[in-house]
Amino acid sequence: MDGHDHLTALLSRLKLTALRDQLDNLIDEAGRRELTIREALTMFCEREVARRDQRRIDMAFGLARFPFVRDLTGFDFGAQPSLDKAQIREIATGRFIANGEAVLLLGPPGVGKTHLAVALGREAIIAGYTVLFTPATTLVAQLAKAHGEGRLEEKLSHYAKPRLLIVDELGYLPFEPDAAHLFFQLVSRRYERGAMLVTSNRAVGEWGQVFGDAVVATAILDRLLHHSHVITIRGDSYRLREKRRSGLLQKTAAAPQPSNA
Ligand code: ADP
Ligand code: MG
Repeated sequence: MDGHDHLTALLSRLKLTALRDQLDNLIDEAGRRELTIREALTMFCEREVARRDQRRIDMAFGLARFPFVRDLTGFDFGAQPSLDKAQIREIATGRFIANGEAVLLLGPPGVGKTHLAVALGREAIIAGYTVLFTPATTLVAQLAKAHGEGRLEEKLSHYAKPRLLIVDELGYLPFEPDAAHLFFQLVSRRYERGAMLVTSNRAVGEWGQVFGDAVVATAILDRLLHHSHVITIRGDSYRLREKRRSGLLQKTAAAPQPSNA
């Protein structure tokens, strides 16, 4: 075994795989830059750590099950003047996750609620938190199914585990009577332990209708609102804005109105 193979074997055994795979390039680079041994070791360790961070992030993205790829840089705050950019930045720091708080993102369809939820989930992953994204309807269907099969406990633990649970589009469909209670159990379980980010097209005052039960809705809101950041987006749909811009909607707007003269 020559020295090179021996080093490769040692790096494999230490699981320093990034170093092992880029060894020749790294040694060349250290030589070219005339690094001291300490500087070279530092650079080698940095590469290994960078690869591990990237791996963890890639894996966490897979586990999070985001419906699409979005980030905060891609969010046009100018299009949504009702949004407080500083507040979004503060939430993006992840402090609310460390504190087990809730974020409610409310507003009509198309204003960027899911975009922001995914972007904030992305920031959370980069900050090192585990995240799970689920549409509200899927969450409730999964809980109801598990309940029917006597596995509710298992499902509740599954949804209680990630440090941040994102529940998207709450209130898009009204809940079945049982579902409200199942959702309540999840919220109680996570309360003051795991953070939640909930998006909804319904104002908090309408949640009684969403859950079909004012008492359960109050109990849910009581916990969600206790330590919470409520963000209400009052704007136009970004989708329609794009269409309007490209002239697709102009025709409708300019269509002759029936005269009542
Ligand atoms: P909502 O969840 O509120 O119904 P979405 O987040 O799904 O809306 O937004 C609809 C589409 O428009 C998505 O593709 C999203 O990325 C885009 N979008 C919405 N608002 C913005 C914005 N302010 N800047 C950039 N893209 C936006
Ligand atoms: Mg949405």
